[in-house]
Amino acid sequence: MLNLVLFGPPGAGKGTQAEFLIKSFGLIHLSTGDLLRSEIAAGTELGLKAKANMDKGELVPDEVVIGMIKSKLDANQNAKGFIFDGFPRTVDQAKALDNLLNENKTPVSGMLSLEVEKQELIDRLLERGKISGRADDQDQSVIENRINVYNKKTLPLIEYYKKQGKHFGINGMGSISDIAGRLKEVAENI
Ligand code: ADP
Repeated sequence: MLNLVLFGPPGAGKGTQAEFLIKSFGLIHLSTGDLLRSEIAAGTELGLKAKANMDKGELVPDEVVIGMIKSKLDANQNAKGFIFDGFPRTVDQAKALDNLLNENKTPVSGMLSLEVEKQELIDRLLERGKISGRADDQDQSVIENRINVYNKKTLPLIEYYKKQGKHFGINGMGSISDIAGRLKEVAENI
């Protein structure tokens, strides 16, 4: 099985690049951001609670996202592998993911970490906000908070995967197809 953690700050292009990786490797895409937005759209209680965190640019509690991932893993036991997009975002989430995958003896193969300059991130997110209508992409202070939360809570994951010899840094600047090519090459050689 190929289990890829697609990693990077908000606006790094994880969702866009996940589409290419799915096609190349036949993987199942698990994006906690997309799963949470579906809950919000369906008006569930979980969605309602998560929205309050998301609108401020804060993280949704670990147990909520871990529970969502667990049910998706259980529902796709015969998958060739998964792309985790926007998950894990805290060290506790990464530990929980390791435990869940160990149950099936299919550990994380590698973390593909997209590296993008901060001003480029802000520009991309504001641009996406105009098109997608996502409220959290339209407010500069919410964007700044997401990047701060990323630096504080999510960045330590790089060390977590480096210690396991699973960290692969990838230049996330340039054209979408150039970045897709870089990711594919690394994923093929994991
Ligand atoms: P982006 O990476 O562009 O910020 P996402 O769609 O991945 O967008 O996430 C949107 C929001 O959903 C986050 O700001 C956060 O509030 C919430 N979220 C998504 N994934 C997680 C996660 N793994 N843990 C906690 N909160 C999450």
